[in-house]
This record gives sequence, structure tokens and C-alpha cells, in this order.
Amino acid sequence: MINIIEKESCCGCYGCVNICPYDCISMKIDDEGFWYPIVDHDKCIGCNLCSNICPTINEIKKIEFNVIPYACKSKNDEIQVSSSSGGVFTNLCEYIIKNEGIVFGAAFNDKFEVEHIEASTMKLCEKFKGSKYVQSKIGDTYIKARKYLQEGKLVLFSGTQCQIKGLNLFLRKDYSNLITVDIICHGVPSPLIFKEYKELISKKFNSEIKYIGFREKDKGWKNFSFKVKFENGKEYSNTHREDLYMKGFLNDLYLRPSCYNCTAKDFRNNSDISLADYWGIEEKHLDFYDEKGVSLILINSRKGKLFFKNIEEKISTLDTDLNYAISRNPCIVKPVSYNRKRERFFNEFRRNNLEDTISKFVNVSMTEKIINKLKYIMLKFKY
Ligand SMILES: Cc1cc2nc3c(=O)[nH]c(=O)nc-3n(C[C@H](O)[C@H](O)[C@H](O)COP(=O)(O)OP(=O)(O)OC[C@H]3O[C@@H](n4cnc5c(N)ncnc54)[C@H](O)[C@@H]3O)c2cc1C
Repeated sequence: MINIIEKESCCGCYGCVNICPYDCISMKIDDEGFWYPIVDHDKCIGCNLCSNICPTINEIKKIEFNVIPYACKSKNDEIQVSSSSGGVFTNLCEYIIKNEGIVFGAAFNDKFEVEHIEASTMKLCEKFKGSKYVQSKIGDTYIKARKYLQEGKLVLFSGTQCQIKGLNLFLRKDYSNLITVDIICHGVPSPLIFKEYKELISKKFNSEIKYIGFREKDKGWKNFSFKVKFENGKEYSNTHREDLYMKGFLNDLYLRPSCYNCTAKDFRNNSDISLADYWGIEEKHLDFYDEKGVSLILINSRKGKLFFKNIEEKISTLDTDLNYAISRNPCIVKPVSYNRKRERFFNEFRRNNLEDTISKFVNVSMTEKIINKLKYIMLKFKY
């Protein structure tokens, strides 16, 4: 049975909760705001299904396939601008919905918490648009996806790299009517920190929140902004380099413990297609560069290759070099390094207010800046 001793060994994918035939696993939120499984020992029969499908302790047999990398962007300007990178995800949704399929992805609920939901219309798929930089709750969506797959429906399931590894292990078989799309992920921030941050800015603007966008392109794709619109008509907007929540996220201060040791990267989750931002495209393919956003698409399986052909008319694509793309986007293959200030940050956060605590911990010393720069240069040379 699942037994979480080290927090690093649980990515919170809900796979164990979904697979348990006796409903004896539930999720409990810890004091950092992340959920972990708790087993009801009176109900558990020790079948071990939960530990057999856990993505942090099990590996999936890798598909033999040479990854095909593309630079891509949607031909629809509106989709491109309103998405995080090149908008290809929405073009994938369009095909599924046209063929009466179901899309699963991460959406805000009415409290601006992030959770996985299903969509059978493009109106609902709109909710998936844009990266939400906080962990999304999978809930019972693995079970729902399996039900649709067994009924023969076309299903597209999207999620972070660990969520897709969790789904593939949960399903324990390959369905020809399933397409899995993983979002290359830097790591997922704590839902508790995000909740406190929403409360903080809501208080500052003296109003309820009616819209949140993490990847607004008013100042361009590379210089994206975090934007909040309030019921009283006011608006908060700051670039990711200046906004406090984004600074803490990008400094890896409050990611889920398992993210620093992610076991789903480097194509270990058997997704059919991976989506990312094509950072560094201007140095490789200047003609294809576009301030409205460019996606990096990795086709990881024969199924993914066949499926991707269905949207070729809707997008512009360009062959590219996988090693170069990885050198500019290392999260494709390896997790971010543990921030040694993380523990002190959470200790202080419990005693102090969020604004002061993040501000104190995001200021990087000159030595750290030099070490980071050296790490970056070494990585560039490696690829
Ligand atoms: C937490 C997080 C970290 C990321 N880190 C990187 C990175 O290091 N490098 C990189 O290149 N790209 C990263 N991305 C992905 C990138 O920002 C874009 O989402 C991706 O390029 C797809 O863009 P798009 O324009 O095609 O579609 P968009 O419309 O922007 O993307 C929508 C897709 O993102 C999914 N999604 C949104 N929020 C979440 C969430 N919290 N959890 C799971 N799925 C979510 C939706 O379900 C949908 O599938 C990250 C995304 C998230 C959510």
C-alpha cells in the first residue's frame, strides 16, 4: 500500500485515489498547501494497486520512437495571442471537439482554484487556455477518462509531465482512442501560497477578483505579465520579472517537493505530444520568431505523429533541432534545482505576512547569480 514517508516521493497525481477499488485513500492538505494520500487501514485489503501505479516509484516502458521537434504557431491570431505560447493546444482541442471527443485539462473554478475538468464543447475548452502557475487538482478525472475510453470516445488528456505519467500508469493499457499531451513543466507552485497571494491583492484593490491571467502578452510573449481584473473595474498588471508571486515561482521557492526530483521528465511519461514555449527561437530561426508567441512541439509516438497531421492546416510548422530546444528549455529533460532557502521560506511564511516573506527570499546574491549563469553556460555547451 502507498506509504508516503518522504514528501518528495509523491507528486499528488491522485492516481492512487482513483485506482483504489475500496475507496480507502483520500487526500489531505499539508501545511504547505499540497495534497498527499492518507490510507484508511481498516478498509485497505493490501492489494497494492496504489503503489503499483504510483508514477514516482514506477517506470513506464519507453516507446521506441525518435522524437520529432517542431517550432509551431497557430494560424489564428486570436488563438495565438490568447494562449501562453503559440496556441497549438486550442487547435488540438478543435479537432477533438469536431470529432465528438472529450478534452481534459486544467481550468480555474469560481474561486480561482485550479482543477482538472472535462470539456465536450469549445466554449468549455476556452477555460484550458493559458498556463495557470499553480498545481492543478486531478480529482477523479483519470476515472472519467477511462470510462470515455472504454465507451470508444476520442479522448485528449493534457497535464503536466507527472500527471500524464500518472494517467498512463493508472490506465495500464494503451487505448487507440487516447491522445496524451504533456505540458513541459518548470514545477508546480503551492495552492496555499497562490490562495494567500490572491487574498493579498484582492485586499489591496479592495475588490473581488473576476479574472486572472498568468501569461498576458500586452508587453509581448517573452516579457509576459501577470494580470488580475477586479469586480470594481480596477486592474493589476505586472511583468513576470516584477510580480512577487511570479518571482517566487521562478526562483523555485514554493514548488511541490517532488518537482525538484521529477521522475516524469526526459520522455519518461510516454506522452504522445509535448507542448512548451520555444524559448530561444530568435537565435535559431529568426524568420519564424513571433512576439505573439511560438510553441515548441515534440512528437513522441507514432500515434502522436498521425494525430498531429489532423491539425497541420491550422498551424504553421518548422522543423527544428531537439538538442538546441533542450539547451534553451532544460525542464524538458531535467527538474529544477532545489532552492536551499525553501524550508526557511515556509517557516517564515507561517509567522509573517506573504508579501514581506517573498520579497525577502527572492533577492538573489551576486554569488548565486554567477553560479546560475555558469550552470546555464555549461548546459548550453552540453547540448
Ligand atoms: C506549472 C507550469 C509550468 C510550466 N513550465 C514550463 C517550462 O518550464 N517551459 C516551457 O516551455 N513551458 C512551460 N509551461 C507550458 C507553457 O507555458 C504552455 O502551457 C505550453 O507551451 C502550451 O501553450 P499553448 O499556447 O499551446 O496553449 P495554452 O492555451 O497556453 O495551454 C493550455 C494547456 O495548459 C494546460 N495547463 C494550464 N495550467 C495547467 C496546470 N496548472 N497544470 C496542468 N496543466 C495546465 C491546460 O490544461 C492546457 O492543456 C508550463 C506550464 C505550467 C502550467
